[in-house]
Amino acid sequence: MNAGQEHPTAVAGAGAGAGAALLPAPPLLFEQSVPGRTGVQLAPLDVPRSAPLPDELLRTELPLPELSEPEVVRHFTNTSRRNFSVDQGFYPLGSCTMKYNPKINDQVANLPGLAAIHPYQDEATVQGALRMLWELQEWLGEIAGLPAVSLQPSAGAHGELTGALIIRAFHEAAGRQRTTMLVPDSAHGTNPATAAMAGYRSRTVPTGPDGSLDFAALQDALDADVAGLMITNPNTLGLFVEGITDIAAAVHEAGGLVYMDGANMNAMVGVARPGDLGTDILHFNLHKTFSVPHGGGGPGAGATAVTADLAPYLPPPVVCRDGDTYRHDYRRPRSIGRVRAFYGNFNNAVRGYAYLRSLGGDGLSEMSRLAVLNANYVRAALADHLELPYPRICKHEAVFSARLVARDHGVRTLDIAKRLIDYGIHPPTIYFPLIVPEALMVEPTETESKDTLDHFIAALRAILAEAAATPELVRTAPHSTPIGRLDEATAARRPVLTWPLPDGGSPRRGK
Ligand SMILES: *Cc1c(COP(=O)(O)O)cnc(C)c1O
Repeated sequence: MNAGQEHPTAVAGAGAGAGAALLPAPPLLFEQSVPGRTGVQLAPLDVPRSAPLPDELLRTELPLPELSEPEVVRHFTNTSRRNFSVDQGFYPLGSCTMKYNPKINDQVANLPGLAAIHPYQDEATVQGALRMLWELQEWLGEIAGLPAVSLQPSAGAHGELTGALIIRAFHEAAGRQRTTMLVPDSAHGTNPATAAMAGYRSRTVPTGPDGSLDFAALQDALDADVAGLMITNPNTLGLFVEGITDIAAAVHEAGGLVYMDGANMNAMVGVARPGDLGTDILHFNLHKTFSVPHGGGGPGAGATAVTADLAPYLPPPVVCRDGDTYRHDYRRPRSIGRVRAFYGNFNNAVRGYAYLRSLGGDGLSEMSRLAVLNANYVRAALADHLELPYPRICKHEAVFSARLVARDHGVRTLDIAKRLIDYGIHPPTIYFPLIVPEALMVEPTETESKDTLDHFIAALRAILAEAAATPELVRTAPHSTPIGRLDEATAARRPVLTWPLPDGGSPRRGK
């Protein structure tokens, strides 16, 4: 079977390794450099030449490539065509919510009246922008069921840190010294890292047999040293945490606070409110749930919502309204302090605001319902082909295990993921959550059509058939890319830049 014939966006399927469709690998800018070539032409000097810079100020170690403008433009254009983006194809990267971001939101964020305002501008001249931020705070608070919101944090993990510092400040204000943060074993790695950054020791709570939190283990772990629980719901198994209100009540009973990692809110918006389920603090990932491109124009946006009781701890300023006037309120006597300069990633707030307004309340709950429906469609269609470690209705993502494929055919999850690239599909998240062996975490999102989901399902079934019949084909995938397997761990852990010396000496290395 050749999935490439079924779907217009797929590159040829089985065996497609021929380079016919490939662009030649562009040389590095350093390799293209020609001494003396330049992309600018300066007017002749008509002022006295200044004294030369002292030698010790001259950089000798990092020669910049010398190129013409078209060479540089072509280099970056060709490089960009080798990228894989959500604008190009299906991108089911679980937990990341790589949904299509409507372009209108970018256009709104680029309106000169919004893009060109200055953070030091007099508040009287930016009333529209302040009103927008205030409304965004209000709406996010309404969605969270938690009334007080800070738009400052720049990412999900940054919202986590804001929340963990609020937990710390809350206990300290009451004269309590608590040193432990409970974190489920299915949590995103940022959760224990955040707990550590906020000065806590993180203690792991296991997942129960149904994929929820093990309630008995939680009760065992709850003592007078526990500052709080950082729980993700739906969790990273894509499952709603059953008994969440009992869990929250038990944590509160023990004097702790409940932090909900809201990175998976795409499954819940307009359907259930974390505040109503016992959450004290929640971060949103505007760059997952509310259509901000990941890394859009810089960092993301991790708006953080808290109960009314915790509002005094929020970072200043918070936008408030007096009658028809909007202003920044810096009076936060118990604040944890600022977590970044100015008011958060403003242009991402604009994108999120535009998205919320364009969908409206009903549209937002439909968004979440469709995200859940799409994930369950994929789950059901592949249930006979891959193991489901927790076979129940999932939320926005379905987590499979390819354990048996690895055992029977020696084809691992990584191989399956790489082979999907040959079918024009970005790999799903793999080997996460860690508690699922050979995990494949598929998050289709609500923006994908049934045709796209069917193409993905057909591609995965075809790859599983290949794993049985021609395992080497899968083990050596991808075959359609200029470079096959990359050493991703080393590339991420030891990014090394090399450049040639002008005298032709051996390349220098730097980090
Ligand atoms: C993405 C994610 C985070 C971290 O968000 P960043 O914006 O990448 O810092 C935290 N928890 C979960 C469950 C996530 O999926």
